Amino acid sequence: MTSSQAPRDLDTSRPHSARMYDYYLGGKDHFEADEKAAQTVAAAYPGIFVCARENRAFMHRATRVLAREHGIRQWLDIGTGIPTEPNLHQVAQSVVPEARVVYADNDPLVLKYAERLMHSTPEGRTTYIEADVNAPDALLAAPALAEVLDLDRPVALSLNALMHFVTDAQDPYGIVSRLLAALPSGSALALSHCTPDFDPDTWQKVTDIYTGAGTPVRFRSREDVARFFDGLELLDPGVTVGHRWRPDGAVEATDAEVSLWTGVGIKP
Ligand code: SAH
Repeated sequence: MTSSQAPRDLDTSRPHSARMYDYYLGGKDHFEADEKAAQTVAAAYPGIFVCARENRAFMHRATRVLAREHGIRQWLDIGTGIPTEPNLHQVAQSVVPEARVVYADNDPLVLKYAERLMHSTPEGRTTYIEADVNAPDALLAAPALAEVLDLDRPVALSLNALMHFVTDAQDPYGIVSRLLAALPSGSALALSHCTPDFDPDTWQKVTDIYTGAGTPVRFRSREDVARFFDGLELLDPGVTVGHRWRPDGAVEATDAEVSLWTGVGIKP
């Protein structure tokens, strides 16, 4: 984290993306400024609540598929957000109790709430590190990460609703490649990303609201999201709208409401 970010993140009089997202999910860990900004987004894009819910649901399904069908036992979840049950380790450990999960976020407030995340099964491990995805080498070198993850064995890199906070100038594809380069064959990338594809006018408004609130965003097209999976073997059904990625039941939301591209790829 740069020192210029610290005052903004800790300043609860200004909206913050993690706390706005907590509002969309019906959580309690946000302040008035976050609620106001989130309500402005919801007025422009009423689908935001469906989008947030379907984003969590994708994370649950992707985690279970990786644990059950691809032998994944370790996860690195960056941009983890304020705890929302079930958290990733709870989903993973419900399939494999020995699952190990490292959570990373650059928001000190998320860290404050993270004790709630720490209740691993006795067989597994969880930890939380304050780290910025824009500094992938420092993130990978965090001592707490090495205590929990064995980087010689497959790790699922989970980047859910994170990379749209990384603008083109910040080299999003380079960052993801750098993270994946540190992981062995058999590792995975599970990623979700908001998109303007189904309703460009609305998403321009959402972009303006976030940018105006001090959080630059870059929502991307399907083609641009698919690029994050370059060099990986995409699992079926490929890059799809969140609620259509291996749905558990009937698909009810519309693509425009969900407005998330999602996918899971395996490193050959
Ligand atoms: N992954 C969760 C939460 C998504 S909200 C989910 O999908 O449900 C996005 C999260 O990314 C927020 O918690 C925000 O604090 C975090 N974030 C934003 N920019 C980041 C960065 N540069 N490095 C690390 N985390 C970041």
